[in-house]
Parts: sequence; C-alpha cells; structure tokens
Amino acid sequence: MRRRLAAGNWKMHGLADSLAAIADLSAAHPDPACDIVICPPATLIHRAADLVLGRAVSIGAQDCHAEDAGAHTGDISAPMLRDAGATTVILGHSERRADHGETDAAIRAKTHAALRAGLLPILCVGETLAQREAGETLGILSTQLALSLPDEARDHAIVIAYEPVWAIGSGLTPDPDQISAVHAHIRAEMSARFGTEMAGATRILYGGSVKPANAASIFAAPDVDGALVGGASLREPDFSPIIAALCASC
Ligand code: PEP
Repeated sequence: MRRRLAAGNWKMHGLADSLAAIADLSAAHPDPACDIVICPPATLIHRAADLVLGRAVSIGAQDCHAEDAGAHTGDISAPMLRDAGATTVILGHSERRADHGETDAAIRAKTHAALRAGLLPILCVGETLAQREAGETLGILSTQLALSLPDEARDHAIVIAYEPVWAIGSGLTPDPDQISAVHAHIRAEMSARFGTEMAGATRILYGGSVKPANAASIFAAPDVDGALVGGASLREPDFSPIIAALCASC
C-alpha cells in the first residue's frame, strides 16, 4: 500500500510570521491518515523543522545543488538541507526549469544528490500547453523521466509529481480521467526501467491548481497518490480541507 502524500510548495512566499500557518496545520492534523510535508523557502526550513519536531507534519525544500559542498556562492546542498531538518526536496519544478534553465541532466544530478543525503525527492514532470495540444504529453513525460531519474533511484523511495505546466497557478486542471491515464503511463515507465516492485511503491502526485473544491474528485481518480499544492498550501484554512479530502480517500 502506498501511503498518500499531501505536499505544499510555498515557492518564494513566507516570512517568519508565516510559521504560524505551519503550527496551525500541524495542530489541525495530529494523526493524519496520509503524509504531510510543507516546503517553505530555505530561510524558514530550520525554524519550521524545529516547530514540527515530533509531529506528523514534516518539512521539505524546493531545490538543492548537485554537489554536497564547494565553491557555489548562494547555493544550498542536499546535506545542508538535511542538516537544517528537511526530509524531502522538490526537484525539477517547471518554474526552476523555466527561471533557471534547469535541464533534465541537471535535475538528474540533483536527484542523485538528494538520494545520497537521505532526502526524499519529489521529482516534477509535466508538459506545456503547446506540447499537450500537439499530442506530445506522454512522450515528453517519458523523456523527462528517462533523463532526470538517476539509476540510483532503483534502491530508494522517490515521489513523482505530474504537474502540467499549464495547470500551475492557472485555475485549470485536466479531467480526473486524464490525470489517471498520465499517472498510469508514468507508473508503466517506472516499471519498465526499475521493475514492478519499485514502480508499485512509488507515489505519483498530481500538481496544478488543486483547491478544496476539486481535491476530492482528483483524489478519487485511480493511481493518484496525493497532491503537490502551491497556492492553496500557504494558508491552513485552504490546505486543511485538501488534506482532509486526501485522508478521506485513503
Ligand atoms: C506548484 O507550484 O507546484 C503548484 C502546483 O502550484 P498551484 O497549486 O498554485 O497550481
């Protein structure tokens, strides 16, 4: 059985007073039937991790460097994130691919670094609107998975987040049956490369405009193991109903 996962991506949002939202969320879900991780900006990771110590909510990061240490001004390595209290790291988010020109090869190296450090990678893949309209969705996802997953993933837990680029922050989502079809394709690709056991254990999240109003229908779709949530994860009153819908679907 795959334990479902609700992951919040705060992106470049959050100052010290935002820690209250994490405290509220943690208090609202003392013993959830699903896993919950919040990925605040790097500046808040240490304090957030201290805040949830011994609680059900865990803390993640939004990126890491491919090397463990070195002359890379401004970058943060996977061991540093682990040291600060992160358990998880989002990698290959489409905003990093777009804003920082991250290639699949770079994401592969970062994913390997995360695994070396004992972090759970949430690897994001997804097609643009133009690619979807050209009927290229499944091929794009196959390529992203093939090139951005290191062979070492075979021996580790990883999470894949299917995030159609056109759905992020837009209020648009694919139909639940379209999401299921894509997730089944991702699982088949994982199975072909890493075997059925690893593929069967890999959680595949949907991400892109998940809100309290659409969460239940998305979580009812076969092969959806949870969600990566951006905007709606910033406030406890928005994220809690999504978590509740996920737990209810467990
Ligand atoms: C995201 O940033 O990963 C995301 C899914 O954002 P939103 O939920 O705001 O669409």
